[in-house]
Amino acid sequence: MAILVTGGAGYIGSHTVLALLERGEDVVVLDNLVNASEESLHRVAQLTGKTAAFYPGDIRDSECLARVFGEHQITSVIHFAGLKAVGESVQKPLEYYQNNVAGTLVLLEAMRQAGVHQFIFSSSATVYGEHSPVPYQESMPIGGTTSPYGTSKWMVEQVLQDFAKADPLFSIIALRYFNPVGAHESGLMGEDPGGVPNNLLPYIAQVAIGQREQLSVFGGDYPTKDGTGVRDYIHVMDVAQGHLAAMDHLKQIAGFKAYNLGSGIGYSVLEMVQAFEKASGVTIAYQILPRRAGDLPAFWADAELAKQELGWQVQRGLDVMMRDTWNWQRKNPRGYRS
Ligand code: NAD
Ligand code: UDP
Repeated sequence: MAILVTGGAGYIGSHTVLALLERGEDVVVLDNLVNASEESLHRVAQLTGKTAAFYPGDIRDSECLARVFGEHQITSVIHFAGLKAVGESVQKPLEYYQNNVAGTLVLLEAMRQAGVHQFIFSSSATVYGEHSPVPYQESMPIGGTTSPYGTSKWMVEQVLQDFAKADPLFSIIALRYFNPVGAHESGLMGEDPGGVPNNLLPYIAQVAIGQREQLSVFGGDYPTKDGTGVRDYIHVMDVAQGHLAAMDHLKQIAGFKAYNLGSGIGYSVLEMVQAFEKASGVTIAYQILPRRAGDLPAFWADAELAKQELGWQVQRGLDVMMRDTWNWQRKNPRGYRS
């Protein structure tokens, strides 16, 4: 009996694999390493004393999937694999629809053939699009996405709803993450963006260790508390725990259900800078630039549904997110290449 984790060598996937192994689950990872290093799984093994079976393969490769399902008694699939850079998705829409949408279809077909019916999908707050009022609630209509990345997540959610309706054996949960940040408290695992980080916290951390000169704050004229963008940041280990709670809940539901994984609290870019400075003792140089195309002013989660139905809520606040980010960055200035 094992859980297949696609994209399990990546940022959120590797932290979830760690949490699953710590709970005593058998884990199989499938990852093509397009945005990850196998070193993350070595660190998982170092921390847990346990090893996940690893297949360096692609979710679009049905033969590879058949081999994985044939060689292990998979009972459920947690599906992280996909491309995630919003800006890049505008430049390369076909790659994003290929990986994120077509890849998920190949995976679902392989699951159906193998008789595996429990599925957790990495969705995103981006599916609420640009017209939803905050805080975002799961009952709101989704769509109005502003990038091929966001649209790919929206499309997969539509597919999953139809698929679950057509085949009542399937239990499917889409977890809509808000802004995952932070690292494992050991400092051995964390986020390892290749090249210039797109996301706020990895960028701040690289400024702190002197790899980047200063942070560009995208927009100082939003209708928010201090004019900068507001998001709901959530510790990656809380995200990982959310998957364990969803796994347990899958057994009790039939069909499709979506849950927000967020804290319910919004912080501005400048509040994030201040919190990081407090945790690290390092001053972060920044300049305010024009808004970044496609960014929304402010959004955060209504976190009640996951609390009530999954029995899950965040355990780690902003200070822990910052402490762990700084610890990881200092110990691994070149990420997993250190
Ligand atoms: P990540 O890039 O670190 O992890 C994704 C993993 O999938 C990588 O290890 C990559 O090598 C692998 N992969 C990509 N395409 C693949 C394919 N075709 N076959 C096999 N493996 C493939 O990203 P992450 O931050 O860990 O995100 C995990 C999931 O969560 C993604 O689906 C992402 O869209 C979603 N998500 C992430 C965030 C975020 O801010 N990090 C927010 C919302 C949703
Ligand atoms: N942001 C910023 N500078 C950066 C990266 C991000 O000011 O170098 C801002 C961005 O405009 C947004 C917030 O930080 O208001 C979070 O951005 P991120 O890219 O981390 O997440 P997302 O846009 O996906 O919510």
